[in-house]
Amino acid sequence: MKVLIIDDSKTVAQVIGVMLKEEQHSHLWAKNGQEAIDILKTETGIDVILLDWNMPIVDGPTFLKLNQDEKITTVPIIMLTTENKFQKMTQMMDMGASEYITKPFTKDILFSKIQMVLSK
Ligand SMILES: [Mg+2]
Repeated sequence: MKVLIIDDSKTVAQVIGVMLKEEQHSHLWAKNGQEAIDILKTETGIDVILLDWNMPIVDGPTFLKLNQDEKITTVPIIMLTTENKFQKMTQMMDMGASEYITKPFTKDILFSKIQMVLSK
C-alpha cells in the first residue's frame, strides 16, 4: 500500500511513516495541499490520502474544495485533525473526505480507518 501524507508537521508525518513502514507500506509526504497537488499530478498507485486540516498555503478544507472543483484525485481521503467538532467533520465528508481521525491517534486506529475506506 502507498499512502500520501499531507501534513505540515514533520513529526506527525514521521510518526505515521514509521507506523506504515512497520507494516511494510510505503508513503510520500507533502507539507501542504499545494505540494500534494503537484505530487498527485505525477505519482501513480497511491491508495490512501491522509489529509491534515491546518496547514499553510493550501489547507485541508481548501484541498477538498479544489479537488471537488478540479477533480485532482479519486483516491480516498482520510482527514487528520485536532478539530473534533461534529458539524465541521460532516461538512468535510460532504466535501469528499471518506473518514476522519482525531489527533492524537494510535496505530490501530490508523489502520482500522484505512481498512474502512479501502473496503468502501
Ligand atoms: Mg497542521
